Amino acid sequence: MARAIFFFNTMSRRLEEFQPREAGKAGLYTCGPTVYNFVHIGNLRTFVCEDVLRRTLKAFGYAVTQVQNLTDIDDKTIRGAAAEGVSLREFTDRYARAFFEDIETLGIERAEFYPRATDFIPQMVAIVRRLEERGHTYTLDGSTYYRIATFPAYGRLSGIRPEEVLVGARVDTDEYEKEDARDFVLWKAAKPGEPYWETELGRGRPGWHLECSAMSMHYLGESFDIHAGGVDNIFPHHENEIAQSEGATGVVPFVRYWLHAEHLVVEGQKMSKSLGNFFTLRDLLERGHSPLAIRYLLLSVPYRQKLNFTFEGLKGAHSAVERLGNTLRRLATSPPAGGDGDLDPGLVDAMIDDFDAAMADDLNTARALATLHTLLTRVNQALDGGGISGPARARLDAALGRVQQVLGILPTDSVPAEENAEVVALVREREAARAARDFARADAIRAELGQRGIVLEDTPHGTVWHRKT
Ligand code: AMP
Ligand code: ZN
Repeated sequence: MARAIFFFNTMSRRLEEFQPREAGKAGLYTCGPTVYNFVHIGNLRTFVCEDVLRRTLKAFGYAVTQVQNLTDIDDKTIRGAAAEGVSLREFTDRYARAFFEDIETLGIERAEFYPRATDFIPQMVAIVRRLEERGHTYTLDGSTYYRIATFPAYGRLSGIRPEEVLVGARVDTDEYEKEDARDFVLWKAAKPGEPYWETELGRGRPGWHLECSAMSMHYLGESFDIHAGGVDNIFPHHENEIAQSEGATGVVPFVRYWLHAEHLVVEGQKMSKSLGNFFTLRDLLERGHSPLAIRYLLLSVPYRQKLNFTFEGLKGAHSAVERLGNTLRRLATSPPAGGDGDLDPGLVDAMIDDFDAAMADDLNTARALATLHTLLTRVNQALDGGGISGPARARLDAALGRVQQVLGILPTDSVPAEENAEVVALVREREAARAARDFARADAIRAELGQRGIVLEDTPHGTVWHRKT
């Protein structure tokens, strides 16, 4: 039987064994970006953590259906489109495209569905109708609000008691008259110059929270397995989603496991557009940082801990990726041969078991990476000791395959295979030349490789190479 996975459920505030609704399947909803600008690396930390969650579920044998929304209608997208004098769709298309480019650059696997809020207006209206029928709403000046006093479970996820509630930022910026500041808007009456939909709720547009209830239930059902996002989503966004979904359907629970990623911070403050303390992925790539190092950094700290972003940290991640690459390239060029210090296949299996145990423990990526580095240290020792024999090599390849499937941080395919082979042949030739003390030839090969952007380094473990970044 497959190993059990444990997640920290924000709802129960404890570790729980993951038990899906349907054996072997996992339904996953992850709150997506508001497509009004390029995402910053704080957003991407959450998306990378969710990618690791998705990959882990798959590696543990679950068929995953992941849905991630694109918020393409809200105050910010409307303002951005108006400022440029283009349609909302044209404006948001641009940043949706950029989002897909960015996640591809970071090796984030594609979700099964990327619904856009503006394509789900009828489903949102239907939810509001059901809420009306069940007495959860009231209208004021053409807008429809959720009366949270009608939902006794309100506040269970966040621990915020309704009488202590301050208006959440999203609600606040919408600038609506409210009968009660703690209630939130479901459907907003049209304002002059803003996009609107003509619906049975009147002329208007949806509130932000409503879209996630509509799109998650559309694809995953009225009760589904996992809902994830950043910790800033807990209140009011996810609290409101629960009130909307359970209030409309009567089906409890809307979500079985709530997972929240802690923030990426800069000098103790959340990285955010409004604070101006942000870097986009593009900013970092322009400064010469590699996607793999950025991905490594983003997942190196377990998702429930804050990640303090520094360039020093990014440099450290770069070195870690280099070390992994060096060992893997060395391995790729060593013929199978069992030396004195051959790798014990049993040890490789034990390591991969540790790796799985770390991931099953609420996605402990830091522990999983430590296991990987220990394994690769053993690999280097075995190569120093004369090589790795066939059976151990097969186990090792399987282990590395699993690491790559789950974390996606091995620089294995950064160089095309044929080019790889050519470089390897030249590196070998240079090693032979050095052994024969033909330093002129050795230097000529180094220069030739240098022209191709390959940097050589002679280490006590032999010559390693990497591509200039
Ligand atoms: P937004 O586009 O603001 O709705 O954010 C998209 C996702 O990024 C949400 O899941 C947020 O919780 C998450 N997020 C925003 N800022 C940060 C940050 N500094 N660190 C980690 N995640 C963040
Ligand atoms: Zn959401």
